[in-house]
Amino acid sequence: MTVVTRFAPSPTGNLHIGTVRTALFSWLYARKHKGNFLLRIEDTDRLRSTPEATQLIFDTLDWLGLNIDESPVYQSQRFTAYDRVAAKLMDEGNAYYCDCSPERLEKLREEQQAKGLKPRYDNKCRDRQLSRSNNNPVVIRFKSPLGGEVRVRDMVQGEVAYKNSELDDLIIVRSDGSPTYNFSVVVDEIEMGVTHVIRGDDHLNNTPRQINLFQALGTKLPQFGHVPMILSASGKKISKREGASGALDLRKQGYLPEAVLNYLVRLGWSHGDQEIFSVEEMIELFDAASINRSPAKLDEKKLEWLNHQYMMAGDASRMCELAKPFFQNAGIDTEDTGPALIDLFGVMKQRSRTLVQFAENSEFFFKELTEYDEKAASKYLTSEAGIVLKELQSRLSELPEWTSTRIHEIFQAIVDEHEIKFGDIAQPARVALTGGTVSPGIDVTVELLGREQALTRIEYAIQRIQDKNHA
Ligand code: GLU
Repeated sequence: MTVVTRFAPSPTGNLHIGTVRTALFSWLYARKHKGNFLLRIEDTDRLRSTPEATQLIFDTLDWLGLNIDESPVYQSQRFTAYDRVAAKLMDEGNAYYCDCSPERLEKLREEQQAKGLKPRYDNKCRDRQLSRSNNNPVVIRFKSPLGGEVRVRDMVQGEVAYKNSELDDLIIVRSDGSPTYNFSVVVDEIEMGVTHVIRGDDHLNNTPRQINLFQALGTKLPQFGHVPMILSASGKKISKREGASGALDLRKQGYLPEAVLNYLVRLGWSHGDQEIFSVEEMIELFDAASINRSPAKLDEKKLEWLNHQYMMAGDASRMCELAKPFFQNAGIDTEDTGPALIDLFGVMKQRSRTLVQFAENSEFFFKELTEYDEKAASKYLTSEAGIVLKELQSRLSELPEWTSTRIHEIFQAIVDEHEIKFGDIAQPARVALTGGTVSPGIDVTVELLGREQALTRIEYAIQRIQDKNHA
């Protein structure tokens, strides 16, 4: 048997992290079993579905490398299939027309609630043999089995049993002819040959109804795996404010796709205490039975940590290509100014957890320095500092070999000759060269800035010290 899994998002908004994690699990399962991973766009809700949201689904899967094996299926294009299967259920006596008005159903619900009962359809039309011929709007309901129970053998949740007496005759086709979720899903799973339905556990309660439909249609059941939700860092349902942003927003925040995949796979799944997984390892080690049954919590620190690991280990030229848009966004021209990006990356990767941080922390290498951090300047750009900066300027201007090692020797020589501490020269130099007190090692910073920029900036700082002294 070829394993076939699917991802079935509704294109009605952002594709958030929890949904994408479910897609990842489904994809991993297919890849692990050398099966197929399919995409079904559940766009029967014409008012809420948008082309932008559909595009977002493609872009997200594409960014994360969750490739699909067949052309996507659009539910909006499959109404004839739903009509055909509904007609079959009708012909075989497994479905019926119902003309109960919304008012009647509402009244029924109120009465049941008043008695403390769970609202359910009372099967009024089940045996009325209505036809569509009269002008009344009719829906089609599925004849749910009246007795017995349905057992869901879930790959994640274990066995869950539901009494049929708790499931009512669900509507499968609305009065406007559109199929309902539980019905279209079953028709599609069958016709797409889905063998494993891996999805969010918010659909677990729909599963017994779907199983009854599969059985009425005489088809083999797929295996189900219901993956728990992801909660916010504080353990609550994810709200818009607390990270309900789309998975693709993580790209804008400077995260690498491999780090996001690693983060997602570890949310609610583990393999011993291993933290870092390449995609190949995920495929090899993934196992639905080890998915945690309890909900996982978002953990931004963990994502940052992982991203940093992947930036450190990643191919530098690829990292630089991925980082370029972030430099552009920060208004930094990396083509005609500043050090080579690849050299810069080698130095900055230790101190950047995201590509955004890489760009932002590197800004001073590219932009003309006209302002200092005032506190740092008044602390470090003193008259004593002016003397050593002058010395530094003259030695750097004569340095034949512009390497961090030689540059370091100059700093050391000044420290020794003036009997000062390393910080007494390094900090003023740092303020002069970067505007503040945070940067990579002073020698590599000087090297990366290049002789011209380094000397110009030191000169500017010396001028400032002199101006202050004369003021
Ligand atoms: N379209 C449904 C949703 O976005 C998923 C349905 C399913 O996976 O069965 O929640």
